[in-house]
Amino acid sequence: MVQMSHSKETLQQQDEKYVWHSMKPYNPNATLVVEKAQGSWVTDVDGKRYLDAMSGLWCVNVGYGRTELAEAAYEQLKELAYFPLSQSHVPAIKLAEKLNDMLGGDYVIFFSNSGSEANEAAFKIVRQYHQQKGEGGRYKIVSRYRSYHGSSMGALAATGQAQRKYKYEPLAPGFIHVAPPDSYRDDFGATDPHGIKDIDRAMTWELSDTIAAMIMEPIITGGGVIVPPDGYMKAAKEVCEKHGALLIVDEVICGFGRTGKPFGFMNYDVKPDIITMAKGLTSGYLPLSATAVRKEIYEAFKGSDEYEFFRHVNTFGGSPAACALALKNLEIMETEKLFDRSRELGEKVLNELSNLLSDHPYVGNIRGKGLLLGLELVKDKVTKEPLDTSLVNDVIASCKANGLIIGKNGVTVAGFNNVLTLSPPLNIELEDLAFVVKTLVAALEKIK
Ligand code: PMP
Repeated sequence: MVQMSHSKETLQQQDEKYVWHSMKPYNPNATLVVEKAQGSWVTDVDGKRYLDAMSGLWCVNVGYGRTELAEAAYEQLKELAYFPLSQSHVPAIKLAEKLNDMLGGDYVIFFSNSGSEANEAAFKIVRQYHQQKGEGGRYKIVSRYRSYHGSSMGALAATGQAQRKYKYEPLAPGFIHVAPPDSYRDDFGATDPHGIKDIDRAMTWELSDTIAAMIMEPIITGGGVIVPPDGYMKAAKEVCEKHGALLIVDEVICGFGRTGKPFGFMNYDVKPDIITMAKGLTSGYLPLSATAVRKEIYEAFKGSDEYEFFRHVNTFGGSPAACALALKNLEIMETEKLFDRSRELGEKVLNELSNLLSDHPYVGNIRGKGLLLGLELVKDKVTKEPLDTSLVNDVIASCKANGLIIGKNGVTVAGFNNVLTLSPPLNIELEDLAFVVKTLVAALEKIK
């Protein structure tokens, strides 16, 4: 444990001096320097407690402070600290077997460390797969506007949010975008509100035999929690099949119970070709991600020529301790029935918030599945113009002042972040969930 030997001021000053934070410009007054955490609560260096209704970055699914997880990693580190997965080791084999079982038994697992890497591996796999099959012209990857798929050059190219991308272009070539299935905000055409025709149109006009795959999250999370209509994913898969494209499902957030099922796609009756996962796989306790690939695709890589294998090395991916910890994490999820709990509590909170906020002038739409919820704030419920950022920030600040951490995501090209997000640990206590609802509703009352 890193010992705290400084006052908060000094720690914040040191933070400003040494740590380059992701996303936001540095603001010492707003930066939370956290020292410890237990259950759904984190404690800052002043001793103030906050309920973390975002599970960190949507990842601490089994809650903080699970000593079983620390012990699983510790025991494994003593036994075998490292060995590359160009060879193999027991925790990776056991975890791959477990994930394959959870996915229904037809997948081979490639391990990496982060969601971005899992997606990059998927992009390389689909391109090489088509080459192995004699269709090397298939290289394009289709994804949706408003989606987020990671920070590396390919994953960011797949991402459909211009404001995150434009300062880093040119990104990896070969990525094209189609409409998201946004039932509330029909920005993409009244005749095709869910964008299925748009997928078909893009794959046709780009020429089918240039399309390698489509990547999608079951529910777009980082673009404002967009829950598709029930038939959407199945229809999208059919369009992919029509054009000979594979379907990659990004379960980095939706996986491991977040949407009330083991994996998000399981809400929608589809069998993906490739599934990428990270975050909840270890509940954020150690870095680990996986790219699960249908066996038939994997089989195409087995050839007599060594250059036909997947030439993709990942030094730390699938480290023994991370795999051992992930296995324990999955065991906890099963023993505590956290997938069902997520579904039940998600429905409960969605109902409560809908009842309490239906008359609120700025709450345009409340949506979600499992313990993954979004509240879209608008200036006017008819025009659906996004609420001013300053008011959205007031709500977040008021929650924070009262000990609640919530998130926000955007819906427009200009990057308005007017969707408040909730993604608490799946084992959140009922009284803590009541605190989330009460504090959030009170914060929204203040801006009326
Ligand atoms: N895909 C999705 C859907 C994500 O939300 C994220 C991260 N928020 C990623 C991929 C990238 O994961 P990472 O930050 O671990 O690279």
